[in-house]
Amino acid sequence: MKGDSKDLGFSTRAIHAGQPPDPTTGSVTVPIYQTSTYVHDELGVHRGYEYARVQNPTRQALEANIASLEGGLACHAFASGMSAIATLLTRVKAGEHVVCSRNVYGGTYRFFHQILERYNLSFSWVDSTILDEIEGAMTEQTRLVYVETPTNPMIEVTDIAGAAEIAHRHGAKLAVDNTFMSPYFQQPFEHGADFVIHSTTKFLNGHSDSIGGALVSKSEEDAEWFGFVQKSEGAILSPFDSFLVLRGLKTLVVRMERHEANGRAVAEFLDRHPKVEAVLYPGLPAHPGHETQKRQASGFGAVIAFDVGNQARAKRMLDRLEVLSLAESLGGVETLISHPASMTHASVPAERRAKLGISDGLIRVSVGLEDEKDLLADLERALSAL
Ligand SMILES: *Cc1c(COP(=O)(O)O)cnc(C)c1O
Repeated sequence: MKGDSKDLGFSTRAIHAGQPPDPTTGSVTVPIYQTSTYVHDELGVHRGYEYARVQNPTRQALEANIASLEGGLACHAFASGMSAIATLLTRVKAGEHVVCSRNVYGGTYRFFHQILERYNLSFSWVDSTILDEIEGAMTEQTRLVYVETPTNPMIEVTDIAGAAEIAHRHGAKLAVDNTFMSPYFQQPFEHGADFVIHSTTKFLNGHSDSIGGALVSKSEEDAEWFGFVQKSEGAILSPFDSFLVLRGLKTLVVRMERHEANGRAVAEFLDRHPKVEAVLYPGLPAHPGHETQKRQASGFGAVIAFDVGNQARAKRMLDRLEVLSLAESLGGVETLISHPASMTHASVPAERRAKLGISDGLIRVSVGLEDEKDLLADLERALSAL
């Protein structure tokens, strides 16, 4: 069976793409090739494997699998989502310019603003939900438009096809951080994106037990460059983590469906709740990105933000939860809830947080796979204290 044939459905590819039975033993599961080097058969003759920073069969299986699921040409897997993003940015050189969603992952903002600006790369931070803002920021030097959709934690939705059209008309490329949707719900290449980024730490691995990242590209030239950077800078995903993400991907489809069913239930519960001031979830018809999301994705995901008014109320509520886990991160089987202003976005200066709408009463929840009734009961118990 050729598991990566484009004719096969998404679920079949999630389980089989890049994973023919192990040639030595027939092992159904791709083994963890925990080795640093490979013996050469004779001088000048090897089997395609020389040194494990460059080639590792477990990592390569994962890379082939994610490339297939995203519909890309190639994927390179890294030690974290941030190192995938760092590799992408090697496509931009000193003196060149990037237009970026103002509301990207905090670590992405920190890396671009505090590190890359020192190397004379420049960034314009725009509200990418408004395509005219992207258009207005484009310059002769712009090489990359970088968006996350939906964003974190304000759950803003960017029109991927619209952003791609603007980027291409100005001779730039479009990168989409697809971490929140996963390829099961959203396929940015179909809408014209040139690069897709994942923090595999989140939904792709899905079990809160690995840190990793992936960079998917669709041209030979980009793929070749990223392979060169990957072996040169060496921020590779380990064989064990590659194995974990491969294992996670096999259940991606059923997990995402359950994540979303629970996510909708939680969003609707919060939306009706008198103690909650505002709920941000693209699945709610009142969400400003609802129509765009429906057009470009097949689901709404499981990440929700809501506002309880102020930090004291947020603390009172969060401290009463028993089933939901108070923790950073998202995309795991367990429901993770956090207070962005003091946790994930604490490194963003208060003034900038205010500008982005990240209020002190804002709470973010990544809905997991527990029983819906237990999640709603836990939230009700905590909210009733307000
Ligand atoms: C977590 C996250 C990242 C960074 O990934 P790491 O694996 O933590 O390095 C990037 N983008 C988004 C949207 C994320 O949620």
